[in-house]
Amino acid sequence: MLYSPALASRTLAKYTVPAAAPFAFAARSAVLGFHHSDSSRRRHHFRPQQVASRSHSTRATMTASTQLLQGILDANETYAAAFAQSDPALLKKLAQGQAPKIFWLGCSDSRVSAELATGVAPGSIFVHRNIAQCFHPGDPSASAALAYAVHVLKVEAIIVCGHTGCGGVKAGMQAAVDSKSKEDQGEKEEAPKPGSVEETIAKWIAPIKHLATPHANNASDPLSTLELGSLTDEHVKETVKAVAESDLVRAAWDEGRELSVHGWVYHVATAKLRDLDCGYKGPGVKADSLSRPSTYADSDTL
Ligand SMILES: [Zn+2]
Repeated sequence: MLYSPALASRTLAKYTVPAAAPFAFAARSAVLGFHHSDSSRRRHHFRPQQVASRSHSTRATMTASTQLLQGILDANETYAAAFAQSDPALLKKLAQGQAPKIFWLGCSDSRVSAELATGVAPGSIFVHRNIAQCFHPGDPSASAALAYAVHVLKVEAIIVCGHTGCGGVKAGMQAAVDSKSKEDQGEKEEAPKPGSVEETIAKWIAPIKHLATPHANNASDPLSTLELGSLTDEHVKETVKAVAESDLVRAAWDEGRELSVHGWVYHVATAKLRDLDCGYKGPGVKADSLSRPSTYADSDTL
């Protein structure tokens, strides 16, 4: 079983509705093009050739992206049918509103989905994702998501989740390495053109670059998996601190609300979540430790 409620940690289970495994598996299989042993559902499964063979005239005019999107819509049909069959009560409940207990600040990376990583059903986690799960002061998008989650939905836990192989973290390290290299050669760094791709990304990852500077200055191989892993952890811890020290979270604590902020890292090679034990449950008050793998080695081993 690739996708099971058993994947949800005990702590998460306390807060969330476990996903109904049959619909979740069927839907995921459909998107990934996997075959399923249940032949009665096979006709719903998306396979690229299924779309392409609909008709000669359609196939001739469909671009690759249209075929891809058609496949996604086909997968949605499978998902909706399986969901309605396996858990109609949950569908009805979700139609009435949401009451998630968790806010997830994660990376936009296509491999790291809050729901898939935790095995919980829709309605369990309120999510905000951006490149490298940053919480920049003055970012209206992340702040609005946090404000809504904490003060309207009244979530009880906030998870900042980084991941291995993060492109944003690597870009931050690379930028720090490039700056050091220019400095060593006595060259001046040129500012990227305003509005360019380079400037847009450089602005976003500037805080990660700042965090990466000691690595770039001192590590023998700053771009090694080990150094990038270490920078990922540091960045998650800094973000947890920034969220915990935000006025939005402080206001909830001032009201006496039970709210904790945690830092996790998702290991892409194993799909395991690692708790960094760097959380807070009040101003300067450490959050309870969670019973999850806490070492990089544990989390990177299947
Ligand atoms: Zn990432």
